[in-house]
Amino acid sequence: MKSVLIIGGGFSGCSAAHLLSLQGGWDITLVEAASYLGGGCKTKWYGGHPYTFGPRHFLTPKEKIFNYLNRYCPMRRCQEHLFLTYVEQDAQFYNYPIHVDDVVLMPDREQITAQLRQRKTVEGALASKNLEEYWLASVGQNLYDKFINGYSKKMWRVDDNRSIDDFSWSPKGVALKEGPREAWNNAISAYPIAANGYDDYFELSVQGTKVRLNTEIEHYDIANKTVVMDSQKQSYDIIINTISPDIVMNGVHGELPYIGRDFYKIVLPVAHAFPENVYFLYYAGDEPFTRLVEYKQFTRQNWDAPTTIIGMEIPSKNGRYYPVPFKSEMARAEKYFADMPDGVFSIGRAGSYQYRVDVDDCIDQAMGVVERLA
Ligand SMILES: Cc1cc2nc3c(=O)[nH]c(=O)nc-3n(C[C@H](O)[C@H](O)[C@H](O)COP(=O)(O)OP(=O)(O)OC[C@H]3O[C@@H](n4cnc5c(N)ncnc54)[C@H](O)[C@@H]3O)c2cc1C
Repeated sequence: MKSVLIIGGGFSGCSAAHLLSLQGGWDITLVEAASYLGGGCKTKWYGGHPYTFGPRHFLTPKEKIFNYLNRYCPMRRCQEHLFLTYVEQDAQFYNYPIHVDDVVLMPDREQITAQLRQRKTVEGALASKNLEEYWLASVGQNLYDKFINGYSKKMWRVDDNRSIDDFSWSPKGVALKEGPREAWNNAISAYPIAANGYDDYFELSVQGTKVRLNTEIEHYDIANKTVVMDSQKQSYDIIINTISPDIVMNGVHGELPYIGRDFYKIVLPVAHAFPENVYFLYYAGDEPFTRLVEYKQFTRQNWDAPTTIIGMEIPSKNGRYYPVPFKSEMARAEKYFADMPDGVFSIGRAGSYQYRVDVDDCIDQAMGVVERLA
């Protein structure tokens, strides 16, 4: 039996453990610093309502990923899911991604229409050097100012969006949407049926794995696939890392920066606060928060209760949640990956140092690694 160490018990670590156990022939150890599995996807409760830290709504363009998760974590398909952005200068909510049909509702629609006539082709826009240039080329100045300018600055804690020189993640579909108003209509949209969300999947995924909760590795020697845990040296055939590469590589190329989040939950004395099927409200202006989420909309739990729970996310220095989209830092992460020997894999949002890695991508990456190990 070959031995494998999984560092981190979030979605990517748990999926990797589960897929390896299905494959068989592995002696699996998973180390998790927290007292529970699942990372930010762990369901918590407040005022009788389930919630997670941020939405953690499941979206994937790949049926294979959905079918896998749905088999072990029964999912409810969401028929429609809308995201709105509040634009203070217009005192209105509009769809996000920006929808071409909303332009007629905007006071400056004539100017916008003229700007849209000047916009570049998708290929032309993609040749831009930074986020600001990309959006100006895609939608023009007025829509950029309404939806993107202030939002991106607060999201990434920058003074100038031209400093964001990787925008391959933005937007996931097209800059200006036509057709369905649903946020990502080219993806399967779903949420676990269970009241405790993904939690049962996390527990199921580690059956047959030695799980070490509340544990942090004392010393990493990744080059030799060896770590020190409980003052004992342990060597493994394979290591699957899901935490920031600079930690497991002892920071030799410097610290990888992240944007953190402060998170607030609020119970309101109404059964429903958002319009039907609206999951998120983005706030694009000067207020400190980026997004409000009404959990009931996609958990469908406590639907008729006279209260509802809202989550609010404020970008901050707390936590390492969002790898930054700067080419220099992505190049730094690449140096860490290049130093990892055969048999060491680094996956997940922090593990691969990619902001665009969502829950579905974590599963996809875990599948990729486990297939390579077959
Ligand atoms: C606020 C927010 C909202 C999001 N909403 C969505 C969404 O709606 N839909 C979606 O698809 N994706 C969403 N995402 C992204 C998605 O949730 C993540 O991509 C995914 O959960 C990452 O899983 P992971 O296993 O890579 O990392 P994590 O979940 O971060 O797991 C890493 C684990 O490692 C543990 N750990 C950390 N340091 C150590 C250490 N030194 N030793 C041992 N263990 C350690 C952590 O405790 C954690 O459990 C959101 C992300 C955030 C931050």
